Amino acid sequence: MSKLVIASGNAGKLREIARILGPFGIEAVPQSQFNVPDCPEPHVTFVENCLAKARHASLHSGLPALADDSGICVDALGGAPGVQSARYAGEPKSDASNNDKLIADLANASNRRAHYTCVMVYVRHPDDPEPVIAEGRWFGEIIDVPRGENGFGYDPYFLVPEFDKTGAELDEDTKNTISHRGQALRDLVAKLKQLNRLG
Ligand code: IMP
Repeated sequence: MSKLVIASGNAGKLREIARILGPFGIEAVPQSQFNVPDCPEPHVTFVENCLAKARHASLHSGLPALADDSGICVDALGGAPGVQSARYAGEPKSDASNNDKLIADLANASNRRAHYTCVMVYVRHPDDPEPVIAEGRWFGEIIDVPRGENGFGYDPYFLVPEFDKTGAELDEDTKNTISHRGQALRDLVAKLKQLNRLG
């Protein structure tokens, strides 16, 4: 097995990444095993923050690294909350206050279109001149009254029209398959294969 450090401490994400990359002989190792210090995320785009996290994890672990960055982008808000999704309503971060702010911001908006975005960046080493950049987008619309108990973040307010369900009404397997993160993971594997980086 070759080791890949994952620049995330989220257990659900780690499980999903390990499940997808395991069959290729890649062992996904959380960056917590290497005492990686917090990485600044000063940028306004997902891809820049994600690249910074991947390089940082690779630098502190001495291993190839994979980082992901995600959030929700709302058309009527010019793409906000965007990279601020986790802290849209400020500190301390809270899903409930982020959702309250989002619904208040959209009070006069007839265009409710939104999508989740996920970017994943893979680097072989901190100075890799060719990071592999994968993306996924999951389209839906923002509703005013929350529905469902699953998921997290903005899911109860994110309606997926094809299913007539919110992200919080979908079961975990369905969400993992169709979501921005699932799409980005599939894009990543396709790109790694194309570049012969899967061993
Ligand atoms: P992270 O990149 O996973 O840390 O996500 C940043 C923020 O984007 C989260 O704190 C959520 O507010 C939002 N977000 C990202 N993905 C999802 C999702 O699948 N459902 C709900 N919210 C999400």
